[in-house]
Amino acid sequence: EDGEVTNDNVDRDVVIVPAATIGCGKTTIALSLRSLFGWGHVQNDNITVQKGKPRAFANACCKELEERPAMVADRNNHQKRERKQLIEDISRTVPNAHFVCLNYVHDRSNYNSIRAATRERVLSRGDNHQTIQAGSKGPDAVIEIMEGFMHRFEPVDPESSPDDGFHMVIDIDPTASSRDNLEIVINRLYAEYPKLFAGQDMPSSEDMDAAIDAAMKDYTVDIKHE
Ligand code: GDP
Ligand code: MG
Repeated sequence: EDGEVTNDNVDRDVVIVPAATIGCGKTTIALSLRSLFGWGHVQNDNITVQKGKPRAFANACCKELEERPAMVADRNNHQKRERKQLIEDISRTVPNAHFVCLNYVHDRSNYNSIRAATRERVLSRGDNHQTIQAGSKGPDAVIEIMEGFMHRFEPVDPESSPDDGFHMVIDIDPTASSRDNLEIVINRLYAEYPKLFAGQDMPSSEDMDAAIDAAMKDYTVDIKHE
């Protein structure tokens, strides 16, 4: 019993891994968790190395864990290959890392609703629309990139490799609001890893509203290919 690691004891080295496509709300949730709990956040588009980007991304995630108990590995991780690489590379440096999948469920039968929700978010906000135009990508090019991710998306299967490497999978709906998804995520993490929140009050409904509002003001969407 002594020193046994159960989830009740976990108070650090939690890596939150979205499985998603563009516009699902990954960055919005990550920024909200950062502002509410001080957790870490690495965005793939901020990794600027030319070679070995997946490895550099994993290294940046490990670095966040040196100073923060949990972090969000903010990229789409929409294929098993990416999830395998992330789990393996982080585990090499942080052997006791706990991987939590933020599974933005993509059932093929629901693709039209997901398209409607994510396109609306990515294309219709005035400020982001400016960004897309300024980046010389018109709406058609953006939609094409988004479609590529949806086409390649490989559903999370917790029963087989590499997704059996997740200690926990939190299913969320890409068409639901980020506010609702944030609350699901916090509640599930709190139930599973209470010590991760030690010393912090659970955020109120108003706290979560404010965190999401701030995150949505803060940020423009990444529409890069990778
Ligand atoms: P990501 O591509 O998965 O990182 O998605 P983002 O978090 O960047 O969200 C895409 C866009 O939708 C951003 O402009 C967000 O501010 C916005 N957004 C995120 N969640 C919601 C939401 O619940 N409702 C609305 N209307 N917009 C949202
Ligand atoms: Mg993002």
